[in-house]
Amino acid sequence: MSRIIDCHVHYYSESVFSDPLAWAKLQHELHWASLVGPKSIQGWADVSTMLKDMDAAGVEKAVLLGWYWEHQSSCTQQNEWYAKCLAEAPDRFAAFAAVQPSAGTRGFDEVRRRIDSGFCGIGEMLPAVQGFDITSHPVWFDLCQWASINSIPVNMHVTEPAGHRYKGKVETPLQDYIDLAEHFPDLKLILAHWGGGLPFYQLNPHCADKLKNVWFDTAASPLIYSPKIWRSVVDMVGSDRVLFGSDYPLRIYPQKNLPGFADLVAEARKSGLSIEELQQVFSTNAETLLGI
Ligand SMILES: [Zn+2]
Repeated sequence: MSRIIDCHVHYYSESVFSDPLAWAKLQHELHWASLVGPKSIQGWADVSTMLKDMDAAGVEKAVLLGWYWEHQSSCTQQNEWYAKCLAEAPDRFAAFAAVQPSAGTRGFDEVRRRIDSGFCGIGEMLPAVQGFDITSHPVWFDLCQWASINSIPVNMHVTEPAGHRYKGKVETPLQDYIDLAEHFPDLKLILAHWGGGLPFYQLNPHCADKLKNVWFDTAASPLIYSPKIWRSVVDMVGSDRVLFGSDYPLRIYPQKNLPGFADLVAEARKSGLSIEELQQVFSTNAETLLGI
């Protein structure tokens, strides 16, 4: 059976999830606060619980993605938690650096430092929440240029433009991502949550070329799409451009009280992908793209 790498996991230290709203207030993280209040589907897990849940689902490695914090101090804190995870279990975790481009060179320097110390990517980014212009912000463009040259992947949140309304839903125009990919053709771009439907535009010859260096992750899929999406997207973009990702510890099956990896792994296995396609989605694409 193929190894499984989960390319879209977040982690918060215990000091945060013991009282998320208090931490959010202290850090002035207003958007995140809106996601973790009462009736939230956010779940929580310390490192040992996360490792147990990974073992239960056969997930060998989790790629810890930074959150799209509004403040660089929160990014730096989370990068510090991730550095600890990497030190504790280097064979089980990989990490992407959180960054707030609006913090200027302070953010950029922090990213450089983390990449030098073994982080393998940047993101998850969400310009609309972080308050910078995806198509022109100078430090963001410097980061993308630097990431292109150094072959460092960048993960970005993309919201589905149609569907239900929910707390924390932020519009992310799909054209912005096409423009970004066109502006930085060598940038390894990972668009989260099935790219918000962007794979459909792979069928448009005016977009296809521009999307050739773009991957799509499957994070939070059951909250948004039927399991038919696996087969459909693989048919549109190819099995070499889809990355398995859960969004753990988000409770992507909200009827369950606790987060986990196993149900999404099971959904993928039953999705109608061939053994070879599954192996690409579960691990070989991530191995190639992230060098892990
Ligand atoms: Zn996301």
